[in-house]
Amino acid sequence: MFNFDIEKKTETSKFETIDLFDLVIIGAGPAGLNAALYAARKGMVTGIIGTVGGQLHNTTTVDNFLGIPLIEGKHLSDRFFDHIDTLDVPVLSDHKVTAIRKEGHRFLITTDDQKTRYAKTVLLATGGSPRMLDIPGEKTYQNKGVSYCTTCDAPFFQRQRRHRRRRRQQCRRSRD
Ligand SMILES: Cc1cc2nc3c(=O)[nH]c(=O)nc-3n(C[C@H](O)[C@H](O)[C@H](O)COP(=O)(O)OP(=O)(O)OC[C@H]3O[C@@H](n4cnc5c(N)ncnc54)[C@H](O)[C@@H]3O)c2cc1C
Repeated sequence: MFNFDIEKKTETSKFETIDLFDLVIIGAGPAGLNAALYAARKGMVTGIIGTVGGQLHNTTTVDNFLGIPLIEGKHLSDRFFDHIDTLDVPVLSDHKVTAIRKEGHRFLITTDDQKTRYAKTVLLATGGSPRMLDIPGEKTYQNKGVSYCTTCDAPFFQRQRRHRRRRRQQCRRSRD
């Protein structure tokens, strides 16, 4: 199964000092981090709850991010995080949100440590997780042939096919 429990980047103490956030973003994948970038730049008191990187952390190679021809998923998410870090946005990365409730003009956000945080606005960027096939070999070959995103990964195999064709041609030529 995918493991999002990676190296923790947390600013719990800073998070605790803010009584009422303008915005709390739930989910620290690319969408959540990007939302934080825009909110913080607009001067909103912003916080993020979630494990930094999201699905990107389980991605080996990314080659469809404009401006960066090829990068490891983890390195890309590190770069996203470093960017957010420059804006001083606290990230509560070791907790999950278990409940959100509206009370008057604010949202009460409960995390799995039973603490409540307060925000004027909540943004859900909780992403998704791939549906497992549950067949033999699936886990062994994850990211080594078993893919969950055709638009992301199909081009890698296309290259492989081209490479195999070229190798076959080379072999044939060397035989002749
Ligand atoms: C193996 C693999 C390879 C991929 N390769 C590519 C690629 O090459 N190119 C590409 O463009 N895309 C690729 N993708 C897809 C890409 O990773 C996703 O589209 C992208 O990560 C979605 O970003 P997101 O922020 O919307 O959600 P996610 O990345 O899913 O992040 C959501 C986050 O929210 C957190 N969360 C959920 N519920 C809660 C809660 N209750 N409390 C706190 N946090 C919560 C999750 O733990 C997660 O960290 C790949 C995906 C996978 C799995």
